[in-house]
Amino acid sequence: MNVQDSPDNSPQHILQSVFGYNEFRPQQQTIVEHLIAGGDALVLMPTGGGKSLCYQIPSIVRSGVGIIISPLIALMQDQVDSLRLNGVRAAYLNSSLSINEMREVEGALHSGELDLLYIAPERLMMPRTLDLLETLPVSLFAIDEVHCVSQWGHDFRPEYVQLSILHQRFPQIPRIALTATADSATQREIIERLALTEARQFISGFDRPNIRYRISDNTINAREQLLRFIRNEHQGDAGIVYCLSRKRVDQVAAWLTSKGLTALPYHAGLPQEVRKENQERFLREDGVIIVATIAFGMGIDKPDVRFVAHLNLPKSLEAYYQETGRAGRDNQPANAWMVYGLQDMIMLKQMQANSDAPEEIKRIERHKLDAMLGLCELTTCRRQALLRYFGDELEKPCGNCDICLEPPETWDATAAAQKALSCVHRTGQRFGVGYLVDVLLGKEHERISRFGHDKVSTYGIGSELNQSEWRDLYRQLIARGMLAVDIEGHGGLHLTEESRPVLRGEQPLHLRKFSRKAKAKSRERKANRFTDTGNNDLWEALRNRRQQLADEQGIPAYMIFHDATLAEMVENRPDSLVQLSNISGVGESKLASYGEQFLDVLNEYRGLENKTQNDTEEETLQLFRLGMNAEAIATQRGLKETTIYNHLAKGIERDEIPLDKVVPLEQNQLKAIRFAFEQFDSGKRLKPVFDALEGEFSYEVLRCVRSDITR
Ligand code: ADP
Ligand code: ZN
Repeated sequence: MNVQDSPDNSPQHILQSVFGYNEFRPQQQTIVEHLIAGGDALVLMPTGGGKSLCYQIPSIVRSGVGIIISPLIALMQDQVDSLRLNGVRAAYLNSSLSINEMREVEGALHSGELDLLYIAPERLMMPRTLDLLETLPVSLFAIDEVHCVSQWGHDFRPEYVQLSILHQRFPQIPRIALTATADSATQREIIERLALTEARQFISGFDRPNIRYRISDNTINAREQLLRFIRNEHQGDAGIVYCLSRKRVDQVAAWLTSKGLTALPYHAGLPQEVRKENQERFLREDGVIIVATIAFGMGIDKPDVRFVAHLNLPKSLEAYYQETGRAGRDNQPANAWMVYGLQDMIMLKQMQANSDAPEEIKRIERHKLDAMLGLCELTTCRRQALLRYFGDELEKPCGNCDICLEPPETWDATAAAQKALSCVHRTGQRFGVGYLVDVLLGKEHERISRFGHDKVSTYGIGSELNQSEWRDLYRQLIARGMLAVDIEGHGGLHLTEESRPVLRGEQPLHLRKFSRKAKAKSRERKANRFTDTGNNDLWEALRNRRQQLADEQGIPAYMIFHDATLAEMVENRPDSLVQLSNISGVGESKLASYGEQFLDVLNEYRGLENKTQNDTEEETLQLFRLGMNAEAIATQRGLKETTIYNHLAKGIERDEIPLDKVVPLEQNQLKAIRFAFEQFDSGKRLKPVFDALEGEFSYEVLRCVRSDITR
């Protein structure tokens, strides 16, 4: 399809006909219009916010080709494939193309056959490419992942700095720079380096409202907890599980596999081919779980990752935000789930203490880790804290994190904390948690007596808590910076300045209650996407069809339709191409390619449902004819009485059984009900009739009478 030739070239029309979406998201429309009018823009929008449309639609609407600069070569093909499935004329130029393919793309450029061209910055900067662009009508330049221009950020790319040349050589062509991560210093750097001072700024904040943050401090068998989480909430979903070490990655992947899940390992120690294949399967198949070190993720743009699980603590909130941010790019509900424990915390603290980095860097790292620990030990909304760290204010608690959903109970831990801290002091500030807890509990062992710690005042004074509760308490004290871990790496603890007010009794300490098994249970929710089993069956059927089509074409399943689109099909049950085209995500091109295929599934399913519906009705009627009443049938069939009455009402409507056998009513009662129905438009809705009769007759009775009337 040549989109530019379509009669209506408005952004709104392109949005609907090409991308199949009904409306723009709030910022998108303004950005699109600003660009079409020729303005420059700096766009900061969280992942999943919908940045791509901001340059794709103007590229289509404006004449000439839109040049999209992206550092992620691996993603270009996917983006181009996706656009082509929507009928957009797109191509890419990068080092993966052969000379011939390259010529082909250049030919298409020259003859004006492209609306979008993706290109890596280093290729763009080649004199040859720049010369080529000068001969072409260019509609806009989009600079994606523009934070790469920042020398202080972790993704710095020198080629990005050179992109300022675009402004010099192509001053009239609008530029849009986009990123999901840039604090205010980075924003200033971007503007300065790329000469974007005139650009209008669209800053949307960092919130990812569809991600549910959940952090639990229970590491007694983290693996089991993970399995339960996946089985209960993410059966058949794609997800990423992060572990700290390669060995742990291998173990967890193998273990999940042994439990019947599709879990593949990914870390830098695996051969290149294995890594590549596992990544491909993750992208292309539905419901694959990747177990990975943090080596995995950069440049993964899979939209339907439904959960990210951490079996270890990230080093900073930046890392946590970035890693969890890989979930739910399609804006559908997703989980960021983490378990962590004392051991993790001590290990990270030690790694940091032992690093060779200069003191000022170590100080920053310490500060970052403390912020991460702070998030873990929080007793208030996690999202508010996370966003505040990035300079965003969320006015109210979010309602979509574990704390909001299940506010933790706190207890006055002042006295216990004093005991724990003074035990550190009494034993000389060099022992680890295990030993300290033994002293508090008055354990008898050789080491304690050798050091004479069975004589200190804190020996045996801790019977009010058990071993794991004391460990929990120590963890919270470390997380709050009241205790520090030794540098030698033995896990020895010593007191910090922060502990003094508590030790002196000047400051009360309220801590989160210890997690209990029972509590973890109540958090479990239904695994299925839909509460109705019928809907789940249809959902699975649609997903199967999608996978089948994707396999045939060798593309990832999500490229055909996103989960959100399939979910809408389940909810709205379209039964014609026109109705299908109203589903969000179904544009003209995809409707033509896949519409029939998905309608088939929907229709087949409808047939099946009707059939089972008929079967179950028939069974009720048979029992009724055998002389059983509604109550007896309900008991025998294990169904609700209302359901049985529904079946019977259908039988009355089809004239298969008489009304008076089902509900024996007096003549005047029947008259009254009939009269009430006449008053209310023959009773499309039962409630007005029910109310008019002042609740004298049940809905079941009314339904049967209505069937008799419409018979
Ligand atoms: P980003 O690049 O900001 O991470 P994308 O451009 O990939 O986000 O968009 C995120 C998701 O939202 C995609 O699934 C995309 O198709 C969808 N999307 C974007 N804009 C709209 C819209 N106006 N209506 C419905 N869905 C949209
Ligand atoms: Zn919250």
